[in-house]
Amino acid sequence: MRKILAGLLVLIAAQEPTPFVWGAAPLRVVTTLSTFADLVKQIGAEEVEVTSVAPPRFNPHFIEPRPSDVLKVKKADLLVHAGLDLEVWKGPLLDAAGNARVFPGQEGELDLSIGIPLLEVPDRPLSRLMGDIHIYGNPHYWLEPENAKIMAKAIAKKLSDIDPAHASAYQKRLAEFLQRLDQRLAGWRKISAAIRGKETVAYHNEWPYLAEFLGIRIEQFLEPKPGIPPGPKHLGFLEEYMKTRGIRVIVQSTYFSRAASEALAERTGAKVVTLCQNVRELPEASDYFSWMDYNVNQLVEGFKASP
Ligand SMILES: [Zn+2]
Repeated sequence: MRKILAGLLVLIAAQEPTPFVWGAAPLRVVTTLSTFADLVKQIGAEEVEVTSVAPPRFNPHFIEPRPSDVLKVKKADLLVHAGLDLEVWKGPLLDAAGNARVFPGQEGELDLSIGIPLLEVPDRPLSRLMGDIHIYGNPHYWLEPENAKIMAKAIAKKLSDIDPAHASAYQKRLAEFLQRLDQRLAGWRKISAAIRGKETVAYHNEWPYLAEFLGIRIEQFLEPKPGIPPGPKHLGFLEEYMKTRGIRVIVQSTYFSRAASEALAERTGAKVVTLCQNVRELPEASDYFSWMDYNVNQLVEGFKASP
């Protein structure tokens, strides 16, 4: 890693810094996740040029940024990220880019976790040495559509702060987004009434916010701790757990190997349901709304197929 970064620094040193003039061109926004890029685009529209670093079909905890990502961050006016300990790769990326405008606490930084009611906040300090990667609480909060309201408001405020000339456009698009979201929220609640109270197990603990919104339960995971792959002993425990409780659905995102889930499904008669952790993880999940449609429908259909 250190060697790669040293190489990147040499590469960057060779680039001329781009002068920045407020209001003359679209704001250059870099987001860590594709979901945040979609939200920024919905609020910023033609006033922003947005790209994301993490490819949506990779585990967002463990991304290896490319030299092109470093260059994007170097030129960014705004960096939007999940905060907490989700992007363990963000620090080295910021160091390599060396763009002080987007450093933590600067005007060009937006930590979307601020103001989010977090789930699973530990009651004692945890360390990564204990084998966990959710040490400040569960960081997958963008899957609760109510939290999308908080994120969209934070994005509109930040864009307005750094680009006041377009503040009224950002606020207008925010109002439209919130109205559309409220309509869709009602629909998602209605469709998911059929699965309320049901229980599933998941590969990684990345769905508690979606589970809370839909009223389903996910208490056990194929990973014995977030970030630790399943072993035979833990899979044996899960087989018993699922059989005892009649659990017939296993959920996971596209980027984890399906081998363990398929084996467990075979032993328990369950069905593996693929959900999208982020917008654009699958072509049918192309924006925040179609992405939630996809996840809600997959779950409803999955439970229907495995009564
Ligand atoms: Zn996680």
